[in-house]
Amino acid sequence: MTSVQEFFDNNLRLPSPPAIALKILEAVREEKNSFDDLAQIVSVDPSLSIRILQIANSSLYGLAQPVDSLAQATSLLGTDALKNIALSFVIVQEFQGESEGSFDLTLFWRRAITAAVAAEMLGDAVGVKSRSAFVSALLQDVGILIFFLSDAFDYTRVLDSKRVSGKSTCETEKELFAFDHTEIGFHLLTAWNLPEMISAPIHFHHSVENAGEYQQDARLLYFADKISAMYHSEHSNAKSVEVHSGLAEHWNLSGEDVDTLVDAVGEKSQEVLELFAIDPGEIQPFSQIIQAANIELGRLNFSYEQLVLELKQAKESADKLAKELKDANDCLREIAVRDGLTNLYNHRYFQERLEIELKRAYRYRHPVSLLMLDIDFFKTVNDTYGHPTGDHALKTVSYELVKLVRDCDIVCRYGGEEFAVILPETGAKGAKVLAQRLRRGIEQKSMEYEGHAFKITVSVGYSATDMSGAESSRAALIRYSDSALCQSKQKGRNRVEAARI
Ligand code: GH3
Ligand code: MG
Ligand code: MG
Repeated sequence: MTSVQEFFDNNLRLPSPPAIALKILEAVREEKNSFDDLAQIVSVDPSLSIRILQIANSSLYGLAQPVDSLAQATSLLGTDALKNIALSFVIVQEFQGESEGSFDLTLFWRRAITAAVAAEMLGDAVGVKSRSAFVSALLQDVGILIFFLSDAFDYTRVLDSKRVSGKSTCETEKELFAFDHTEIGFHLLTAWNLPEMISAPIHFHHSVENAGEYQQDARLLYFADKISAMYHSEHSNAKSVEVHSGLAEHWNLSGEDVDTLVDAVGEKSQEVLELFAIDPGEIQPFSQIIQAANIELGRLNFSYEQLVLELKQAKESADKLAKELKDANDCLREIAVRDGLTNLYNHRYFQERLEIELKRAYRYRHPVSLLMLDIDFFKTVNDTYGHPTGDHALKTVSYELVKLVRDCDIVCRYGGEEFAVILPETGAKGAKVLAQRLRRGIEQKSMEYEGHAFKITVSVGYSATDMSGAESSRAALIRYSDSALCQSKQKGRNRVEAARI
């Protein structure tokens, strides 16, 4: 494990600062230095003078009158502010170049400059008056740059490992290098002899509680960087939450104050980044980013709701279709088991149902009976009044039979003018009673059709499972009832006969 000093001695081949930077550093160090010294230093580099004037005139400082000379700028902003601006310029200029691997140098400076603007503005908003907030915030992560310049590969490992583990940058750096970027930054700036006012807040910006008299300055840097991250990191929402709660906790700023401040930082950063010749990328007011995010969220919600609605409609129409299908099937099934003329159960159904009822009867040791009915002299009805009247009579008899039986009895058209009635849970005694009731009912019914009034009668034969000591098959039961019916006919019609088993 190496110390920070060893790290510098072994690894670092920093480009030596240009002469002008050295001079400015000296001017920054020498607190006694007057404006004249600064003016003299900067005058060597006309482009630097122009940039300093541009910064002084930028909205960052919000001067009432535009300034067109360094003397004027100094009288309004103070020598310290101008020295710090000059220092910031030369350092950013010094450490620019091609980005390598996963370390994006432009993004680094974009984030640093936005943090510098944020520090300046946040300092104003919360009354932390620091002459060096801008340069200090700008350089707070210079340690990261040093890490990267010393060994790009190693620092890429920090970024990767942090991404995987979710640990903080400082923790990850300590695991891989034994010290973090705040220590490196502090060491470098101390080596450059920068005043403690600049380097101490940098040293403690991730451990504010240890910053002693620089606590507020260190906290300013910490939150300035978080504000910058709201614009330049992938986790802007998380940073936004941290900024809102942190600024409320430490400086009592309302959510609205924070929003206004953050928006202003975005706007001013754009201007300052351009002065630093750093591509500002896509800086939009944060409120606009949030608004766009909300619109997108709203759109997503809308399409989600739309989707739910469509699904609901699809389900409803599927349910409706399923019900229609079920109704159609029920209808088909009904058609398949019904007789078209009388709407009674048809012969096929009669056979199936009798089989079922017989099995059930034997399983539960209950009786079941079967009535067979045949209209007397029906041929005469047809012959006398015509076939349609015969049809009508068949329908009327059917209707009457259904009316006269119990709900559980099953009335079927056996064929022609012959009917079969299955009587579940009914023995010979009950069958006889019911047979008589049906016979009488039909006998009493007056038929009327197309001006023809007439009456008809039926002959009935019945058999029941309790008539025999043994089990009767379906065919046997039909045979017994049918022969009883024949008996009825033979004995004069309009009567009921029991099977002789
Ligand atoms: P019986 O008293 O001996 O039963 O005499 P019947 O005339 O009723 O018996 P038969 O078997 O000689 O004649 C049955 C008649 O029923 C013959 C047939 O045309 C008629 N018939 C059968 N099905 C229908 C029908 O659907 N409609 C009409 N109108 N007549 C039918
Ligand atoms: Mg007949
Ligand atoms: Mg017949």
